[in-house]
Amino acid sequence: ERIGYAIIGLGRISVEEALPAFGEAKQSRPVALVSGSPEKAREVARRYGIPESAVHSYEDMEKLRDNPDVKAVYIGLPNAMHREYTVRAAAIGKHVLCEKPMAATVEEAAEMVAACERARVKLMIAYRCQYEPYNREAIRIVRSGELGKLRSIQAVNTQSQGQVAQWRFNHRLAGGGALPDIGLYCLNATRYLTGEEPVDVFARTYSPPGDPRWSEIEESASFMLRYPSGVIANCLTQYDAFNDKSMTLHFERGTVEMPDAFAYHGQQMYVSQRAGSLTARTQRRMEAKNQFALEIDHFSECIRTDRRPHTPGEEGLQDQKLMVTIYRSASEGRPVEMPQPPAPTRGP
Ligand code: NAD
Repeated sequence: ERIGYAIIGLGRISVEEALPAFGEAKQSRPVALVSGSPEKAREVARRYGIPESAVHSYEDMEKLRDNPDVKAVYIGLPNAMHREYTVRAAAIGKHVLCEKPMAATVEEAAEMVAACERARVKLMIAYRCQYEPYNREAIRIVRSGELGKLRSIQAVNTQSQGQVAQWRFNHRLAGGGALPDIGLYCLNATRYLTGEEPVDVFARTYSPPGDPRWSEIEESASFMLRYPSGVIANCLTQYDAFNDKSMTLHFERGTVEMPDAFAYHGQQMYVSQRAGSLTARTQRRMEAKNQFALEIDHFSECIRTDRRPHTPGEEGLQDQKLMVTIYRSASEGRPVEMPQPPAPTRGP
């Protein structure tokens, strides 16, 4: 039987990506909604065949406790609200699939891990790219050594974050600007590709002056991560530039280019390597799959078989610590060392 989820927060990610993905999922189904807007919730409930009795306000979220169909919650709220709803879900015995970034601060993230551990519920952070077939192929190429050792990574995530007033421009609700929202994809990718944790971090942040969008948050962040194996990762994120979600991996004997590595769909991969005296660049094709559906089904499988998720709370917590270090390096204008985490942050 499919694992039932309560969707908390009916914003863009929930309505445009997560809920439609349940249609492609094989082990998961939406069975309840938690929203601040009764009209929107009723409309979404109708669309997904969710009974009105399973539609709740934020204040009434604890009513999910008495709904045996709800085994887990999916949290699609502004970053600074993740902590509260994770803690409340854990307290009523529901597993938590929480959107990235895990939280607005390290302290919130640590509290989320502790609360879920105490309540013996599972916590997974929605790092969709770690379930996406092309990113997984890139990991496989690194581990296989087929292009030799990985030497460096360039990861870019830029977009035009429009004029509309929204929580993303509010430091308290977002925890930062381009970095936690989209730069996080670059940061997390360099960790899952290397399978290592950075030794040190060197960063710059910048906000063009005179634009109210950047009065509280950074518009740009550029950061370099050095990994124990010697891999250098150069990452760039911007909120005021044309969409670029690309990643390039440089190996001893080849290059892997992924033009839309962090996009919702449309991933591609090009592999360049020596062919006689020339360089041959070939496209590698994988079967396209809905990464949101793969991610949600992974969590359902972990719930059913009582396994540790591939991207548990600890994975999000480590990124939160790294983002603090990135901001610190930028403000101090020097590289900052990172302690190695005592245990692996990622599950099988
Ligand atoms: P959104 O603004 O579209 O939706 C946020 C929802 O929270 C809305 O329904 C809003 O009504 C509700 N909300 C409740 N209290 C609020 C408050 N005090 N202020 C503002 N909104 C409030 O945002 P979104 O783009 O759906 O992002 C939600 C979460 O999902 C964020 O953590 C974001 O980082 C994450 N996200 C992940 C991906 C991904 O690819 N995995 C993509 C986009 C967003």
